[in-house]
Amino acid sequence: MNKKKLYRCVKSFFVAGIFLFSGIGAWAQQKPVLGTIIIDPGHGGIDPGASGQFSTEAAVALSISLKLGQALATELPDSKLIFTRTTDELPGGLNSIHQALRYRADMANQAKGDLFIAIHCNANGYKAGGWYAKRVVGHKNRTVYVGKGSKRRKKTIREPIYESYWQKNNEHGTETYIWAADRTGFKGSAINSTGGNTTDSTGGEVVEDSTNVLDLNSPEALIRSQLYEKKYFGKSMLLATMVEDEFEKGGRLSRGVKQRNEKGIWVLQATGMPSILVETGFITQTEEEEYINSDKGQEEIVASIVNAIKRYKSSLEGGAAPAQQTTTPAPTEQVESSK
Ligand SMILES: [Zn+2]
Repeated sequence: MNKKKLYRCVKSFFVAGIFLFSGIGAWAQQKPVLGTIIIDPGHGGIDPGASGQFSTEAAVALSISLKLGQALATELPDSKLIFTRTTDELPGGLNSIHQALRYRADMANQAKGDLFIAIHCNANGYKAGGWYAKRVVGHKNRTVYVGKGSKRRKKTIREPIYESYWQKNNEHGTETYIWAADRTGFKGSAINSTGGNTTDSTGGEVVEDSTNVLDLNSPEALIRSQLYEKKYFGKSMLLATMVEDEFEKGGRLSRGVKQRNEKGIWVLQATGMPSILVETGFITQTEEEEYINSDKGQEEIVASIVNAIKRYKSSLEGGAAPAQQTTTPAPTEQVESSK
């Protein structure tokens, strides 16, 4: 073998090696990071969730979830999509909210999902739309007579003048929840502790648990919670942050990423995978109820969530998370007019 031949031989060996290694690389990348995505429309059936003036949370969540599924099928064709429900029934056709919650989590776990995304809408516990209230706008004097017989005399009293006014229920915006396994362990500025009165969980979420299925203090629940923190908290947080970022870019008011550890979002820690719960808007605000029921609104909500999932996916794949997306919806008039 002359030098030239030896050189060729070595060269082809290296070329073959490069092909082999890139082949192994491709093989290693074959398992997609978002192989299976679980889409969970909140509530359903006997559990309508929160109510607006003309719609229910269960119906809005289902409609947005179905549109989200359609968009993801196009944008992430390699991901398998699983819905916990596609009709207006509780998952599994069940008649118990708790059993249905359990069912949602079991379904996600049995499918070995890579991501669980629950779609809900918010309520603030006050009358949807608004209510009439009274306020004092001035005072007037009024003469009254007090006492009897010879002791009867005039007296002037000062009375408030009331005016009735419309108190608009104006709380609005989006929130994305992740499970708060350990509140003390995280000090990020993106995290807000949850406020007291704006809770979807009081607007139709789980309230009683006679079966203790959802007991958050049970040893099983504590183990699950720790596991979630160790394995899934970071990814859940990353995606939740991206979802809220995309909402904001789309012109919505983002109320931020919130952590909770209560029964309203029990399902998040019961799924052995990164999981988020998206509150797509307040069904109790007139404009936002119209928006989350409209095709335009639902399409914009879906576009924001899809953009976030795509950024999340490329970040997991090690690529740069693109900051700009062409499908980002235009700012909505609805939010701007209701500051
Ligand atoms: Zn809900």
